[in-house]
Amino acid sequence: MLFQQFDALIMALLIALLLLVLTALLPWLISLTSSKPKAVREELVEVVRCPSCSYESPRKYEKGDYVGKIVGTCPRDSKPLVVKAIYIEKYSQTT
Ligand SMILES: [Zn+2]
Repeated sequence: MLFQQFDALIMALLIALLLLVLTALLPWLISLTSSKPKAVREELVEVVRCPSCSYESPRKYEKGDYVGKIVGTCPRDSKPLVVKAIYIEKYSQTT
């Protein structure tokens, strides 16, 4: 019968949908059951500072950078910008 075929199709679709949802939810379920939160992204960032006008700006760490290194010029007075600090920023991944 046509109706029975339709019914089977719906069932197959539902099962497929359920599997899809399960696959999508699996990482979330694993993160729920695991004791320590591991969905944290760590990123090296640094603060550059202009010694003459105290301009400060955070930026992404670039390989080879160190505290005291001159990295570009100040947008205010064109004096050399110096790396003031390098640290690790932690972001929790909720999305
Ligand atoms: Zn400056």
